[in-house]
Amino acid sequence: MSDLQRLFSVQCAAFAADRNPSYATRRGRLDRIEALCDAHEAELVEAIAQDFGVRPAQETRLAELFMVRVGVRHARRHLRAWMRSRAVPTPLYLWPGKSRVLRQPLGVVGVISPWNYPVQLALLPAVAALAAGNCVLLKPSELTPRTSALLKDLAAQYFAPGELAVVNGGPDVGTEFSRLPFDHLFFTGSTAVGRKIARAAAEKLTPVTLELGGKSPALIHSDADIAAVAPRLLTGKLLNAGQTCIAPDYVLAPEHRIDALVTEIGKAVAAMYPMPGDNPDYTSIINEHHYSRLTALIEDARRKGAKVVVVDGDGAPQMDRARKMSPTLLIGVKEAMAIMQEEIFGPILPIDSYATLDEAIARINARPRPLSMYMFGGDSAARKRVLCETTAGGVTIDDTLWHFSNESLPFGGVGLSGIGAYHGERGFLTFTHQKAVFVQPRFALTWMLRPPYGRRFETVLSILKKIA
Ligand code: NAD
Repeated sequence: MSDLQRLFSVQCAAFAADRNPSYATRRGRLDRIEALCDAHEAELVEAIAQDFGVRPAQETRLAELFMVRVGVRHARRHLRAWMRSRAVPTPLYLWPGKSRVLRQPLGVVGVISPWNYPVQLALLPAVAALAAGNCVLLKPSELTPRTSALLKDLAAQYFAPGELAVVNGGPDVGTEFSRLPFDHLFFTGSTAVGRKIARAAAEKLTPVTLELGGKSPALIHSDADIAAVAPRLLTGKLLNAGQTCIAPDYVLAPEHRIDALVTEIGKAVAAMYPMPGDNPDYTSIINEHHYSRLTALIEDARRKGAKVVVVDGDGAPQMDRARKMSPTLLIGVKEAMAIMQEEIFGPILPIDSYATLDEAIARINARPRPLSMYMFGGDSAARKRVLCETTAGGVTIDDTLWHFSNESLPFGGVGLSGIGAYHGERGFLTFTHQKAVFVQPRFALTWMLRPPYGRRFETVLSILKKIA
């Protein structure tokens, strides 16, 4: 029996032994996630930094550990209310019966996570699943081996294997993992692997949540204040050197604003990441493969006619020390360029122009539905049009990324950017079975619909048809 199968059996047995963990048990598990992050912050920061090459401690503390803390605290604050069963109205024809929805754990949940935020994207789904009373088996990414090994050790230190356990490995282990008969499988990663997960899960009819990627647009309205837009746009694009699923992937801007935008982006980079190649606040590209992939995207765009602007603050050439890739703008991009076909996942920002809002909306809708969308500027009518006439997993207006951090907003994709959502109560419900319960009292009128069918039945049904 593999380690994976053994842990799966242990978790199935643990769930069978406690199918409805109490509030105190669940709360204790959430507390332990928080304690794990707090007590091992320095080790987690160091492991991620080593896996990336350079990853500033502040980015890890904000985008990983703080986000997990926000998730834990929000869940803890609302857990009692979330766990409660809900009374729902009962129609007149079932009177005086009572109806309610019981919130019940699903059982054993599998979580597969990616490398780009290796702690947050592993632990936040686990927080939701544990809050909902499930056992969690986690498979983090093989591309962050130190962080994944540390997560395994820490999970073993803070949790019984039946509560939360980690198995490590690459696509082979991932494939075996996705074939297990989990009660729910939660996957964060690429659309290509997401398809494989959905196929494997379909064999067992395992329900899946797929948190995928895609090309998230940033739409700049003609009236936007470009000096205010640039730093906010760049914050979203350059956090983790663009290796963020919800990073703005490309910009749509009116032609006459593009020069100003390029100038302001230069200023914003100089202010935030002067000399990115040497700057300890600027993250490395995760590995050689991704570095070469990004370089090839730039070269393909250059060959096909895009203007390449390397934004270095001091105008120095692009540097690749510690796999640092300078922020790079591509102007005059065309659909035929690879950069406009695939998710970038790096510090390259194509800037495309549009003439009218109708055209911008049509261009966004011509692509697969993105995970996120950003809009800068525009009056309320323009915003309403863009919000209602385009489809994206989530939106931040006049900034980037922040919708992700509000636990009261569901987070997830739509179409090719994902299936299902989590964060806050939406995450709790992802890992919860909402069981319908109807309680029939001793005195009930439904006997009137029983056979033998005749006048009584017809009279009652005709009355019911009127009052239904
Ligand atoms: P990936 O799809 O290559 O890998 C994700 C996980 O799946 C890893 O743990 C990997 O080992 C595992 N895996 C790989 N092949 C598998 C298989 N055949 N069967 C089962 N598991 C398998 O993704 P990645 O490169 O780690 O992450 C980058 C992608 O993730 C980007 O597309 C990004 O947009 C997306 N992403 C999405 C979100 C979100 O919240 N929607 C967040 C972060 C990243």
